[in-house]
Amino acid sequence: MYLLEHDAKTLLEKAAVPVPRGLLLQGEDDGRGRLAEGAWVVKGQVAAGGRGKGGLVKKAGTADEALRLAGGMMGAAFKGRRVQAVRIEEQVSGAAEVYISLMINAAAGGIQVILSEQGGMEIESVPADQLLSETVSADAAAVVACVDRLVRAMPARKAAALAEAARKLAGLFFEYEAVLVEINPLFVMEDGWVAGDAKIVTDDNALDRQPWLRQLLEDRAGAYPETVLKRQHGFDYVVVDPEGDIGLLTTGAGLSMMLIDELRADGLKPYNFLDIRTGGFRGDPSRLVSVLSWFGEAPSLKAVLINVFAGVTDLGEFSALFVEALKRAPSLRVPMVARLVGNNQEAAQRILGQSGIPLYTDLKPATDHLRKLLATC
Ligand code: GDP
Ligand code: MN
Repeated sequence: MYLLEHDAKTLLEKAAVPVPRGLLLQGEDDGRGRLAEGAWVVKGQVAAGGRGKGGLVKKAGTADEALRLAGGMMGAAFKGRRVQAVRIEEQVSGAAEVYISLMINAAAGGIQVILSEQGGMEIESVPADQLLSETVSADAAAVVACVDRLVRAMPARKAAALAEAARKLAGLFFEYEAVLVEINPLFVMEDGWVAGDAKIVTDDNALDRQPWLRQLLEDRAGAYPETVLKRQHGFDYVVVDPEGDIGLLTTGAGLSMMLIDELRADGLKPYNFLDIRTGGFRGDPSRLVSVLSWFGEAPSLKAVLINVFAGVTDLGEFSALFVEALKRAPSLRVPMVARLVGNNQEAAQRILGQSGIPLYTDLKPATDHLRKLLATC
């Protein structure tokens, strides 16, 4: 899961990484009476980068101004997400901004370390030859040794800050089974350093071993709806475009991603990613009922495309469960098109045919049909 900055900073504090002191506003809490006079930074909490450029990171000279800015950010839309919480933290001034990230490099079977003497909002335009990067074996000692090596050519204060940060971040990375830890900017002052921003992504598959992260999910369920869903239901469902109009009922992560790409290349707007894992149905339509109900709550959704490529799955069984699920999710009232290929296709034809859902074995005619349906909605 992609931790919101406030939660990532709470985790950093546990690992003794210095962060600016801050508080979180959410729900009805407008922060009145909780903020001392001072210079603050007001930061909209969304799981996306580029907030600074998008107006979600603003400086305030007084407590009143900070609260006013926070009120203005609350509810704002940014990159398809909504700001439901705002962090206000002490403003750092007169500091240099450097960059450090640790990331799993799955292809190399190691950890990729990236450092830059120039951090901050323009990190993407730092020339590649000024980024220091190396992939090392996946253990904390190797990461620390790598950073010690890479900072040798840097000015003393930046080098010392990055080396110290690396020790703490490497520990945290492995202890919490992260896939990415990025601090940008890491502020370097005359007399120390502090993490100005934090992006931490952890491995959802490791949650069973991570009590602190599970507790966070419980305490802040509203902030992580997709991870909560995956844990409760045992499959993956992600809204990829809140304004999309095609609900995808699909299985297989790779196939589902490819379908999203193909539909988009075709000018269509898929609403969600789904790997429902038909193998886990065991004769129970409740996963299908859940997905159809979520579709029913999506205001932009106009049609559903069912796409199942069945190797082991019996498409007759799948279709019968699907028809059952439709009865249990009456809130969904949009046309559907199915593309089913594989094991026991003929039974699927018969069962879906009876419920009036057109069935294709190729994708192209299915999406053509979908396009016609969308044109008449
Ligand atoms: P992002 O744009 O989503 O990565 O959000 P950041 O938290 O990184 O904030 C964007 C930029 O705002 C940073 O790169 C800093 O340049 C600036 N910034 C954030 N907090 C402070 C602060 O306390 N003091 C100063 N001087 N700049 C800040
Ligand atoms: Mn940042």
